[in-house]
Amino acid sequence: MNSPLLHFQVFTLFPGMFNGPVSESILKKALEKNIISIEVINFRDYAESKHQTVDDTPFGGGQGMLLMPGPVVSAIENHTDITNPNEEVILVSPQGKPFVQADAIALAKKKKLSFVCGHYEGFDERIRDYVTAEYSIGDYVLTGGELPAMVMIDCIARLIPGVIKEEDSYIEDSFYDGLLEYPHYTKPREYRGKQVPEVLLSGHHENIRKWRLKESLRRTFLRRPDLLENKILSEEERRLLEEIRNEES
Ligand code: SAM
Repeated sequence: MNSPLLHFQVFTLFPGMFNGPVSESILKKALEKNIISIEVINFRDYAESKHQTVDDTPFGGGQGMLLMPGPVVSAIENHTDITNPNEEVILVSPQGKPFVQADAIALAKKKKLSFVCGHYEGFDERIRDYVTAEYSIGDYVLTGGELPAMVMIDCIARLIPGVIKEEDSYIEDSFYDGLLEYPHYTKPREYRGKQVPEVLLSGHHENIRKWRLKESLRRTFLRRPDLLENKILSEEERRLLEEIRNEES
């Protein structure tokens, strides 16, 4: 069997949390086909005390427990090589760089991605010296890094060739080219008085392409104008956006 295109590793105190997401649908198939592989490593296996302690109270006082550096760093050092440019060791944290689609595209080119999941109040600050990147999945705080790691793995895995059926279908997804995706319709042609746009039934590929591009621009203009601020528009996109501005004003 060929080796997987991308190997994911997760360092966590709660390995059982990963059973669900990898046992259904697209990730399950990708694992079965060995396109990707996922290994879950428990910090507790690297605990130094006989009671397998991995967390302790913060110096200086305060709420909650922190993951200790010893077990976390031992686990990382035993399973990663941060000098290898094909590897990335990612700390998931609400203080990290906001994770966006462009990051997923870059990370999908690596061979091995490791995720370090905090829990409780977080982790000892010195752990930061042993990772190569730090990402947040949004401006809110979750109980642990397991769901953020899973979100990132799911997002990156679907970009690996062969994971989703039509390899190029993610190219039209929202954010791939800096726009939200256009609206979709399926059967029936009419639902509770609402019709499918005529152009989509026409079979005229060029008109459908133009309609989709315009609606994609309209969605972005109405819902996420911030995305348009950084996007370099083609001549056609500029013209369509002008039409949309007039139509929506
Ligand atoms: N005390 C920390 C702070 O204020 O930054 C939050 C700790 S949080 C309760 C526990 C762990 O969940 C974090 O160490 C991190 O691994 C994970 N986590 C929580 N929210 C996250 C987010 N938005 N993105 C990525 N990881 C997150």
